[in-house]
Amino acid sequence: MRESVLVLFDIDGTLLEVRGAGRRAFSRAIDHCFGWKNELKNIRFAGATDLDLFHKIAAEHGHEPTPDDERKFCNQLAYELKIAIGEDGISRTVYPGVPELLEKLSGDPRCLLGLVTGNVESCAWIKLQNVNLHEHFVLGAFGHEHADRIEIARLALRRAEDRAGRRFEKLFLIGDTPNDIRAARAIGATAIAVATGAFRRDDLLAAGADAVLDDLGNLDAVQRVLGLAGDQPKIR
Ligand SMILES: [Mg+2]
Repeated sequence: MRESVLVLFDIDGTLLEVRGAGRRAFSRAIDHCFGWKNELKNIRFAGATDLDLFHKIAAEHGHEPTPDDERKFCNQLAYELKIAIGEDGISRTVYPGVPELLEKLSGDPRCLLGLVTGNVESCAWIKLQNVNLHEHFVLGAFGHEHADRIEIARLALRRAEDRAGRRFEKLFLIGDTPNDIRAARAIGATAIAVATGAFRRDDLLAAGADAVLDDLGNLDAVQRVLGLAGDQPKIR
């Protein structure tokens, strides 16, 4: 059976949370690369992209980053995250039902799974590998490729269509913030929101989610939302 359903996932707040490590790595990377001491207290990470956050911090320091600055920062960020993720005081959470759902979908011949994340690519894989979820995703687009999540989603869709050699019958983007919902809209995907991150159900409905789930813990409910229920052979 050909893959006809593309399911794109955000990472932080949707699949997992690595509390404290991202912020710590970010702060160290900007200090290492540019000597800026910034505790990032006024920076909101949820729904943002690493490149957009970097641009904002650079602007606070009156600096306009070059492509070389961006590369340097992204490389250092991954280096720092690899260290920070193993340090004391960092808690890792995989949200309820996520391993089971990814196992089920990645084993479903109708589905192709991808990532649409604000993380720099190497950071995305570090986070996923840390909790052994990395093998479910065959492609993605990442936070070092564009500062705007909508463009990241477009890139992921293009890659998926190139890989499949055709358009998908159904597209879904699962995320935890209004920015994920906007990105889903921009690529014509059904926007599925989960209330495991920084936004509550009402915020996500108000932002235009097609469906809001408290979490991904109810496999049957998620499969229904994805239109993948009824995969059991019929008994005559
Ligand atoms: Mg998120």
